[in-house]
Amino acid sequence: ELSKNGWLLDIEKLTLGENIGEGEFGAVYEGVYMGQRVAVKTIKCDVTAQAFLQILTILKTTRLQHKNLVRLLGVILHKGLHIVTELMTKGNLVNFLRTRGRSVVNSVQLLRFSLDVCEGMDYLESKKLVHRDLAARNVLISDDNVAKVSDFGLTKVDSKVSDKAKLPVKWTAPEALKKEKFSTKSDVWSYGILLWEIFSYGRQPYPKMSLQEVKDKVEQGYRMEAPEDCPPSVYSLMRVCWEQEPRKRPGFHKLREKLDREMEKLSPGSGS
Ligand code: ATP
Repeated sequence: ELSKNGWLLDIEKLTLGENIGEGEFGAVYEGVYMGQRVAVKTIKCDVTAQAFLQILTILKTTRLQHKNLVRLLGVILHKGLHIVTELMTKGNLVNFLRTRGRSVVNSVQLLRFSLDVCEGMDYLESKKLVHRDLAARNVLISDDNVAKVSDFGLTKVDSKVSDKAKLPVKWTAPEALKKEKFSTKSDVWSYGILLWEIFSYGRQPYPKMSLQEVKDKVEQGYRMEAPEDCPPSVYSLMRVCWEQEPRKRPGFHKLREKLDREMEKLSPGSGS
């Protein structure tokens, strides 16, 4: 019902509001588009090739719809490129957990977020899409506390043309770092890091380690310890996500079943 021309939106129907964040290519604003609250990401117009590639991926991804993926409404072409998505009023998951902390967010809620992200990724996997930049900073929280995966299909365009130096080392699987072998199984590795971020209430992974140290040690088999008070069953999920051998890692469907069982133990009857 948003537009007759699908993904191409009309600047006249947009009211821009406050600046709510900074992205790599420009600022993020809140706004209203035809009565719906939206977020608008602006892409500076001097990156034309980049913008063009992003439109192509958007064309591909506007058809993706799932309750745990940030909904892409379309783009506006006006002094550069504007990407319009649903507004996620509670911001990204890292800030959400850091600002509220243990006294406000309980372990059922942590598990709920973990399941939300897992369901979104299970859907992406079913569409044969690889995210490449899954991390808590790219998970956003809605007004009613639902976690949704963001930035799918956008960052991967950029990481393909750019060099290895830009990869998020602490989240990227060893085979992706070394041989650029990205797959659902490298997303699963990143998901394990994301689980660690969730259960540590938004801490930076591999605290106090340099990127080079992380690369070397992880290759030699080093893995992070369990976060404080993390249920052992959740930590063992992280550990299977961090199997050196990609095919030994579970898929998102399997992970989801395991998390559902955890949820049933912790909060009977509230699983999905
Ligand atoms: P990176 O690629 O480094 O993750 P980016 O350039 O993709 O960054 P975003 O992460 O998309 O930029 O946006 C930056 C910040 O803006 C987010 O951390 C979040 O706080 C805010 N933001 C982005 N999209 C939305 C949205 N749909 N609703 C609410 N806030 C948003």
